[in-house]
Order: sequence, then structure tokens, then C-alpha cells
Amino acid sequence: MRVCGVVQGVGFRPFVYRIASDGRLAGHIGNDTDGVTIEVEGSSDEVTRFLTRLREEAPPMARIDSIEVGELPPTGEAGFSIVESLVLGRVSTGIPADAATCADCRRELMDPYDRRYRYPFLNCTNCGPRFTITGSIPYDRPQTSMAVFPMCAACQAEYDDPRNRRFHAQPNACAQCGPHVWLCDADGLEIPSDDPITACIDRLMAGAIVAIKGVGGFHLGVDATNEPAVMRLRERKRRQGKPLAVMVRDLEVARELCELSEDEMGLMLLPARPIVLARSKDANGIAPSVAPGVPWLGVFLPYAPLQHLLFADDRVRALVMTSANLSEEPIAIDNDEARARLGAIADAFLMHNREILQRCDDSVVAVVDGAPQLLRRARGFVPLAVELPIDAPPLLAVGGHLKSVFTLARGRFAYQSQHLGDLESLSSLGFFEESLAHLMRTFEIEPEAVAHDMHPGYMSTSWARTWAEARGLPLIAVQHHHAHIAACMAEHATEGPVIGLSLDGTGYGTDGHIWGGEVLVCSLREFTRFAHLDYVPMPGGDAAVREPWRMAFGHLHAAGLDTGAGPMLSLLGGTAQETRVLTQMIERKINAPLTSSLGRLFDAAAAVILGRRKVDYEAQPAIELEGIAAEEPDDAAPYPIALESGEWPREPARLNVHALWRQMLQELKTGVPKARIAASFHSGIAHGFAQAAGAAREATGIDTVVLSGGVMHNRRLTRLLRRELETQGFRVLRHRSVSPGDGGLSYGQAAVAAAILRAR
Ligand code: ZN
Ligand code: ZN
Ligand code: FE
Repeated sequence: MRVCGVVQGVGFRPFVYRIASDGRLAGHIGNDTDGVTIEVEGSSDEVTRFLTRLREEAPPMARIDSIEVGELPPTGEAGFSIVESLVLGRVSTGIPADAATCADCRRELMDPYDRRYRYPFLNCTNCGPRFTITGSIPYDRPQTSMAVFPMCAACQAEYDDPRNRRFHAQPNACAQCGPHVWLCDADGLEIPSDDPITACIDRLMAGAIVAIKGVGGFHLGVDATNEPAVMRLRERKRRQGKPLAVMVRDLEVARELCELSEDEMGLMLLPARPIVLARSKDANGIAPSVAPGVPWLGVFLPYAPLQHLLFADDRVRALVMTSANLSEEPIAIDNDEARARLGAIADAFLMHNREILQRCDDSVVAVVDGAPQLLRRARGFVPLAVELPIDAPPLLAVGGHLKSVFTLARGRFAYQSQHLGDLESLSSLGFFEESLAHLMRTFEIEPEAVAHDMHPGYMSTSWARTWAEARGLPLIAVQHHHAHIAACMAEHATEGPVIGLSLDGTGYGTDGHIWGGEVLVCSLREFTRFAHLDYVPMPGGDAAVREPWRMAFGHLHAAGLDTGAGPMLSLLGGTAQETRVLTQMIERKINAPLTSSLGRLFDAAAAVILGRRKVDYEAQPAIELEGIAAEEPDDAAPYPIALESGEWPREPARLNVHALWRQMLQELKTGVPKARIAASFHSGIAHGFAQAAGAAREATGIDTVVLSGGVMHNRRLTRLLRRELETQGFRVLRHRSVSPGDGGLSYGQAAVAAAILRAR
């Protein structure tokens, strides 16, 4: 049998050893380049049973993609053995992802009679750190940060015993031989105590901010029910508004804080233990500053033994556990680096001496319109491959600018990097390069082409140019919204053609304008623009993103509404002087680029409906607008959007929102509740784009619609669009395991580049 998939470093060989021994089968198992090879010999009943168990009882971290079975003449040998790995050629199965502490290990952790009682680094082949502690391939203890901890005799015996749960568990350790924790103050001086974990909890419960070293980096921990403490964390971290994730003791506590569906609980229990965005309950005791202005809360469960020990104390129910960094910088991993960067934020540090070799933030998922959707792909998912629908030569796709993720591809596999943050600072670029070097080594991929965004101003674009030039590699520029749609197509293994609704914040268009409300007709290789939101000016350029009232002004001006009048001024909260300046910018076309962005239309609507003049974090206005609409039923009457038909494929149609603005302002004036207005706005957008998709089908005969782009984080809009499109008889494809936002961009670029290179 040849078994392919994630079957190395996940306890697969001991599992096979066990089931073979149960059936008294002779034979052997060994790792090979793409998985494992197994030979078994015995009675045909037992061999059949073996095959069934192989399929049905594989260990939790394993993922079987295929089992090929062939027959060989019997050899008459006796006994089953695990043979040394004969690594021929390249290792495509590479390094497994990190997995949360398994139930067996959790039981040992809390068992006073177990030799690993309260040992914060226990793990086994079914659980523990993998990717984050590995420096290079093959995944073996000497290549991990466990190399400096020689195993004691007891641990070594477990490691060597194929019947043991810790057989070849690379990070195996105990209190005698493995890493340990300590608590220190902001100056790095150890705080003496018998039990650093209890001492840490004492401080947390007194309102202190503690930097806690985790699996993929440090967290900043603070009592989630202590409002002044959370406020202090926000001030020190210089992070306003943006919701903070909350780690909870168990599912029971999670259900006290949030409305959780079965699916959402299922997501919380994934071995990756991602952050799950769920509807928060009223008066749940969580400090208001944790997630101000939004009805959702990001909750997740402890996934490392150290975290389980924190929550084993009765006092601890919910802790803010946010990535330890300043705004969008990379997460801190090294002890000295953490002290230097976090010294002004944290009151104390819960340190340990197992080095983190790969930075990896927590992953984020949500159930959107009844289906799970990965919003940030990091710890627990990286470096697992995502399939491509066509063969790719070895290539690198560098992604976008914000929420950067790159992709390495070869053959049918795409390897996405972990979430790297915004490529605005040198430290983020350093993280990008560090991770690229590591994954190129891990998967032995030497890119032969480089795909990048068309935006000439992205740091990723100039980086790609320099890097490709130095290596003499061809560059492939991929339009931003085409890449979004291609990512979703590739995830669903379709090459198209499809109608793509690329609903997004910002992306550079082929006409030099800023796109983002796009109806595309595309295949993986190419696209044409069928329709788009009509262009409006963005007075001040990027300033209009930070100050959505400017965007509202741009929209109102474009709709021919009297922006100079008194009531309008009070609506935007501006001064007469400000509106004069903005009017001049627009009329003289100075620093007022044109945009068709739907994200910016949400910003503008939020500025008018909620009176939000400035944003604290990306997409905040849209998130708040969706938040207040959440109470309203889905069937709110849509505001009108007119489709002004173009001459496809020569000229795209335009979605005109003038009437939408007029009716919205009218209803605001007559005192219609803001929640209703926000709901009608969502309905109008969904209806307008569904209408455009219908027109595209008439023109092309294509009846598959693909939904992508950052605006698809909006659950309400996703739900409304999907329903309306399905009612019209469309097949609707949405993202599942690749982010609809810019985190999924590089995967889409890789798919487009593969299609272009194949055609060449
Ligand atoms: Zn375990
Ligand atoms: Zn030991
Ligand atoms: Fe985008």
C-alpha cells in the first residue's frame, strides 16, 4: 500500500504498527517521498480488516489523500517492523502543522500520579508543536529547537517504543530533561516563586498585563473581565478599537459568552484551535473595550499545556490573549526580542526556554452563511498544502500589501505562508524573507517564475522585481480582483469561465484607477470586466480611507447632492472650510483618484449612518455597519441601484448608486431607525450585484458565480447575495479554506500564473 497525504510526523507509523500487530500481520512500514509504503502479509480477512482500520482509525493529525493497493507474492516472513526512512528525492510531505494538546496528554497533565503532572511541555505523536519548532527538514529532533534537550532514559524509552504514544514524537520531553518556565519582570529579572504559573495568575487577576510565550509567538494576556486592565493594554499597545481575541477555559465558558452553533463549536475544537468569530451575548461580563462597537467576539480554546495550566486555576475563565506586537508588526518570538519590544507594554513575562523557530499567529475562522470560512490562515494550518486545479511549474506568488501571505507552488500543490502582517515596515519585510527562505528549503522549491500584484506602489511588487531580476526569472503581473476570483476558483478546482463578483477594498485596475466593486467574466488565465460600481472621487487618496467622511463627501458629490448645504455639513461633521477644500480637490482633480471600490462605499455609508469620521483599523466602518444591521431581518427593502449597461466586452456596465444615496438620506432625515437603514443598504448592494450577475449571464451564458474579495467577510452580504443568486438559478462558489481577503491573494496569483505559463 502506498498512502499519500499528511502521514509523516503525525504518529502514523506507530498506528500502523499497532493495527498490523492486532491482526498478527507480518510486514513493514517506511516513510517515502510522498507518504508511507506498507507491506502486510496474513490471512485475507485480517488484511481486509487492516485496510478498513487504516482508512477509518487514522490518528487525528493525519490526513489520508489516497491509498494505492497492489498485490505481491507472500514472503513467509514473520513480525511487523518499522523500517528506517529511505528518503529518495524530495520530501513533499515536509513538516506537519502544530496541533493542540490531545485528550490523553491533557489527562496526564492533570493527573497527580503521572510523571508529567503539570509539566507545561508534554506532547505526543498526536499533538504538540511541529512547524513552529522546526528549523529545517527532515522533521527530526535534531532540526527542531528540542535538539538542545537530550532525552532522559524514560523519555528515550518511550521515543524508541513503536507501541508507545510517544514513538518518534520529536518534541517528547519531561520535567527531568525538557524545557521549563519562569516568570520575570519587565527588566528581565526572574521573579522567584515556587510555581511561576500560579504567580503569573496572581498578577493577571490583579490586572497586570503579562506577555506569555506560546507556540507561534508571545501573547499579551490580561483578564478579559477587567475593563481598566484591557484599556491599559490598548493604550500601551497603541491599538484602538480593533477587537481583541479572548481565550476561554472551555466550551462551556465560550457558550456563556457567545451564541455558538454546533458548527462554530466544531471549529473551536479543530486541532488548530483557531480563533472563532461568534455572536456575543449581552451582559456576558467581558470588558466593553475588548470588542467595542461590534456584536461579535473572537473566542478560542487553550491549545498548549502551559495555557491549560493557566486555565486550570478556578480564578481564570477568560483572558484576552492577543498577539504580542505593536499594531501590525510581526509577532514576537524570541525571549530577548520580546523583552526589548514588549518591555513598555507588559508588566511581567511568562518565559520558557524552548525556542520558537517560526513565527505563527493564531488562525481565525468564522461560520459565514452556514459554511466555515478561514479568515486568517496561520498556526495549525501552515505549512499544509492547498491543491491547485492545474499543474504549476515551481513558482512564487508574493501576494498583496496588507495581510500579506506568499505562496510557493509546484505541481498540484500550493504552500501558503503564515499570515505575515502588513508589508509596511522593514520588520514585516524581514519576516517575509525569513519565512520564504524557510519554506523554500522545506519544500525544496526553487521558483522559476514570480507572480505579483499589478500595483506598482506595493512593496511586494518592487520586492518581486528585484528578486526576480537578480535570478533572471520571468515576472507575471496579476490584476488584484482577478487574483481574488482565481483563488476561489482554484479552491473549487474549476478553471472557469465564471462570473466573478470581486467585492473588495482596494486594488489597482488595468486602467490605473482603484477598483473594488467588480463583476468580472474570467477563466483562470484571463478576465474581462463586465461591470463595476461607477467611479467616484476619493478626495485625499489614502486619507479618504482613514477618514471615511471624505469618502462620503466624494459619493455625495458624485451623486449630485448638495454637499455645501448646512444639513449635509452636520451629517458629515465637517466645517465649511473642509468641504471647500474637498470640492476643489474633486473639481480640479488634485489628489482625488477615482475608485469603484465597494469597501469604500461601505465606508461612506457608515460615515453618514453612524457618523464615523475616522477609522481605528481597516474595515472598521463596514464591520460596524454590518453590526448594527445584525438585528434586522434579511428582507429589508433594498435601496435602488441602477445598472447602466455598457457594451460588453468593449465597455463595462456601471452600477450607479445615486438613487441609493438619495433614498438613504431621505430615510435618515425622516428618522427611520439606523439599523433598518443599514439593512436596506446591505439589501441594495446584494440586489444590485445579483442584477449585474444576471446581465452577465445573459451576455455570456455562464451560470456559475464566484464570490471573493475582502467585503465577503461580511456575513450578511454573503448570505443575501448567495440566496438571491441561487434563487436566480446560479451555482455559487465561496471560499472555504483560503481567505476571501488579501490573505488569499497569493494563492490566486499562483493559480493565474500557472494557467498563463501552461498556455505559453
Ligand atoms: Zn498528546
Ligand atoms: Zn524526560
Ligand atoms: Fe483585495
